[in-house]
Amino acid sequence: MSSFTVLNPSTGAAIQDVALADVAATDRAIEAAATAFASWRAVAPADRGRLLRRFADVVDSDLEHLATLEVANAGHTIGNALWEAGNVRDVLTYYSAAPERHSGRQIPVAGGVNITFNEPLGVVGVIVPWNFPMPIAGWGFAPALAAGNTVVLKPAELTPLTAIRLGELALQAGIPEGVFTVVPGKGSVVGERFVTHPSVRKVVFTGSTAVGKRVMAGCAEQVKRVTLELGGKSANIIFADADLDRAVASAPGGVFDNAGQDCCARSRILVQRSVYEKFLGLLEPAVKAFRVGDPSEETTEMGPLISADQHATVSSFVYDGDGRPNAEVAFQGTAPTGEGFWFPPTVLTPSDAGARSLREEIFGPVVAVVPFDDEADALRIANDSDFGLSGSIWTSDVGRALRVSRGVEAGNLSVNSHSSVRYATPFGGYKQSGLGRELGPDALDAFSEVKNVFISTD
Ligand code: NAD
Repeated sequence: MSSFTVLNPSTGAAIQDVALADVAATDRAIEAAATAFASWRAVAPADRGRLLRRFADVVDSDLEHLATLEVANAGHTIGNALWEAGNVRDVLTYYSAAPERHSGRQIPVAGGVNITFNEPLGVVGVIVPWNFPMPIAGWGFAPALAAGNTVVLKPAELTPLTAIRLGELALQAGIPEGVFTVVPGKGSVVGERFVTHPSVRKVVFTGSTAVGKRVMAGCAEQVKRVTLELGGKSANIIFADADLDRAVASAPGGVFDNAGQDCCARSRILVQRSVYEKFLGLLEPAVKAFRVGDPSEETTEMGPLISADQHATVSSFVYDGDGRPNAEVAFQGTAPTGEGFWFPPTVLTPSDAGARSLREEIFGPVVAVVPFDDEADALRIANDSDFGLSGSIWTSDVGRALRVSRGVEAGNLSVNSHSSVRYATPFGGYKQSGLGRELGPDALDAFSEVKNVFISTD
């Protein structure tokens, strides 16, 4: 087995080496999960719920440790990392009630009784990106386990530490061996094996749209079930009738949170033309005041980018070949200099609708601000994207809020807020942002087959 040196993105220093699974090790994990499936699906619903609840409790008692690992490994602020670990606990708690409640139906038919059963799929492969290692893992494994499946989980190469810890915590909680197995490794090895191994009955993939397409094509070979959570280019639409102070105060967090490495980042701000200049004037001091620095400090709002590669990608949207800000740059905040993968919050004002900064997911603390004329124009610009994951609408007119919400082609919208994720409500994308929904009650259906049984009464 080869290994990968995990770095601290705040300093660039090595944290530890993590062994990477090869195909043989991946196969062993999948086969152990297939063996464990027979007994896990047979665990009485109340007992399966109790085990998930115990898993949630064990995560709860380890919150600070998990959060500290994420601050070091992913550069997340301590506030975010605590929320993320708490989200795993909450998602487990929410789905711990499911085994006793995810029931089938009795459907009236002639000549007998017709009932449906929700049956688990078998082994589910969960593939996780580096930007939110803990929550995205939990959104996959918690409903999958609750529905009676066993899970093999592959963290991203860059950020395996919290996933490895969650695997240990599952065992501590009494989840039987083989039911939930963490397999660190490369996407091209472990991830691809989840796609090709016939015992993996479903793949949950969260990551880039390019790799997601490849995963979907691979799953098609075996008509394997797949959920895809992919990229985004979400619009933050601000109407002239909005509470401008609130809209301005929240706009930096709406895109720069997690250093912009957020699939729901509001990376396009659309502002009604009559307040466009005023908005930019108010945004500048807010961006310059955004606190970028040591992520372990409680007051820090933004940490570093994840890697040198990500730094180079984000830089290509902001700097020209000589390292000078390009013509789109309106203003920038500040970031530490020296070691680590730091990038300042940056505001662009592109004049061309075809600009790269308006079309591609930058996945860094960079936002493009453009004006619009009226509701129809706002919708035209918002929907002029291959993506459709999230977005915000700022207005004091409830009718407009609903009209525009219905018109934006995206799976998760919020009005006068930037919130995208609640564990009890569905999450997922339109268009090339994904396929299927996670979280909420519907996610259980995504981890089940429906079996229909007719019993003749003749
Ligand atoms: P990525 O696509 O490079 O990698 C994601 C995961 O897929 C990693 O674990 C990687 O090892 C694995 N992988 C790579 N090649 C693979 C292959 N051929 N087969 C199977 N697995 C493979 O993405 P990333 O750079 O880690 O994450 C950033 C991307 O994730 C962004 O585009 C972001 O928008 C997206 N994302 C989406 C959501 C969402 O819920 N929609 C959430 C978070 C991140």
